[in-house]
Amino acid sequence: MSALLEVNNLETWYGPIVAIQGVNIQVQSGRIVAVLGANGAGKTTLLNTIAGVIDPFKGEVKFSGQTVSRLDADEVCRRGLVLVPEGRQVFPFLSVQDNLAMGAYTRRDRDGVQRDLERIYSWFPRLKERMQQHAGLLSGGEQQMVAIGRAYMAKPQLLMLDEPSLGLSPLLTKEIFSIICRIRDETGTAILVVEQNAAIALSHADDGYIMELGRVVAADSCEVLSQKADVQASYLGGG
Ligand code: ATP
Repeated sequence: MSALLEVNNLETWYGPIVAIQGVNIQVQSGRIVAVLGANGAGKTTLLNTIAGVIDPFKGEVKFSGQTVSRLDADEVCRRGLVLVPEGRQVFPFLSVQDNLAMGAYTRRDRDGVQRDLERIYSWFPRLKERMQQHAGLLSGGEQQMVAIGRAYMAKPQLLMLDEPSLGLSPLLTKEIFSIICRIRDETGTAILVVEQNAAIALSHADDGYIMELGRVVAADSCEVLSQKADVQASYLGGG
């Protein structure tokens, strides 16, 4: 079976600086895939290149068998590859409800939009309670929920999340990851999540990749990765 997402030999530069090189990644339908690595390993660059925010210098991204590298970010999104960027970036002066509606701005299926809104409120009851509040007044965790909900409103086949745990308490991080699993379980959406918190990502994702200095240095099921001595020593606080 061919993968939903195939990243082949991807290479991205910022001016004279190479950020990722020779990166190969696959995401199968309905799987949760984690990309782990320290600060500066190239994780954000990888997601931004897949999402069409940055053009690669080399390599290709294939989604559902079609090449999407070098398409504009909004076209990539329309095709079902939707990114929740690092730092959430909600619209602070719009209500929670309007932020969610913004995610559906290209959709014409009003009944489907309404159903998806209800679905998001079932995943995040706290957002339902605060639906009329300005998103900028919410806590960091709640803003992350808005960002995930808004991305879901665009009807992703693949939802990409950049560091969803950033700045969140351990308890909220766990809650966000449980909901990521629920989204996959209830809707079949595949998820590609970039994380510095390896423990939480490895315990929730199916497959994992480890990046160091712009390259993939390990790829396996999360079960196998979490048993490896070097992964434990470098990423799981073992020794
Ligand atoms: P973080 O967790 O800090 O976001 P990361 O693993 O996501 O780290 P990237 O942000 O993708 O890593 O950065 C990869 C490399 O590219 C780093 O060496 C970084 O300094 C460099 N880099 C990232 N963004 C830019 C930019 N806009 N201009 C120049 N260099 C950049």
